[in-house]
Amino acid sequence: MIRAGLISFSSCAGCFVEFLNMEEDLLDLVKIVDVRAFPIALEENDFENLDVLFVEGCPTTPYQLEELLHLREKARYLVALGTCACYGGVFTLIKNHTFKDAVDMQYGGTPPVVSIPPQGLSYYVKVDYHLYGCPFELSELRALVTALAMGKPYRQPEYDVCAECVLRDNDCLLNKGVPCMGPVIRGGCRARCPSSGQACTGCRGTYSDANIDSHRAILLEWGLTPEEIDELYAKYGGVER
Ligand code: SF4
Ligand code: SF4
Ligand code: SF4
Repeated sequence: MIRAGLISFSSCAGCFVEFLNMEEDLLDLVKIVDVRAFPIALEENDFENLDVLFVEGCPTTPYQLEELLHLREKARYLVALGTCACYGGVFTLIKNHTFKDAVDMQYGGTPPVVSIPPQGLSYYVKVDYHLYGCPFELSELRALVTALAMGKPYRQPEYDVCAECVLRDNDCLLNKGVPCMGPVIRGGCRARCPSSGQACTGCRGTYSDANIDSHRAILLEWGLTPEEIDELYAKYGGVER
């Protein structure tokens, strides 16, 4: 059995909701995962000697940062669960936009308590695995847990969203002038947004071979300004520039 703990820092809690949404799959998961700590779901929590700590969200207060550093010591592996944990996620709006814009866009005008700049967890601690997406993909969680249980390596996808779009025979939105981030963003979500007619907004971050210059050039050709392109690239904090 894998001894696991789950902890949440600044986030919308959507990744933990996704975890609980596994329903019947959750019953299969607990056959190989012994959940020792999950404060939002368990009354008693034991974070000692964990095999794996799943972390949702990113620290944005000194207390949260201290807790992250403390819990990191107690787990063999740490998994960044979702884009907030991988890159800072939606909280990087505060860093990359003017604070007022971010508060208006994301929090309906009420500022959150953020006393340290939002960063992905790897800025502070060693992260062994990243499960990308807003929220993360359940299929990737299953693959990671299975790999850990079998002592086998887990590899994250290193291809773009376009590859999955092509497999689904989708009409390309970017070719029609819709500013889609798919060419630079890590696949693995089965091209969820373009498959339903929406542009990819980049929630899974850039993949290793992303050709940013070429993608920006296409967006410029379609009439976006450099500032508008910067806005697209800044949304989740996970796009290298
Ligand atoms: S990655 Fe998305 S769904 Fe998960 S906690 Fe952050 S904002 Fe919520
Ligand atoms: S719609 Fe977007 S993700 Fe799909 S092929 Fe076109 S650019 Fe790539
Ligand atoms: S298509 Fe883009 S925005 Fe949509 S889930 Fe996939 S990576 Fe995220």
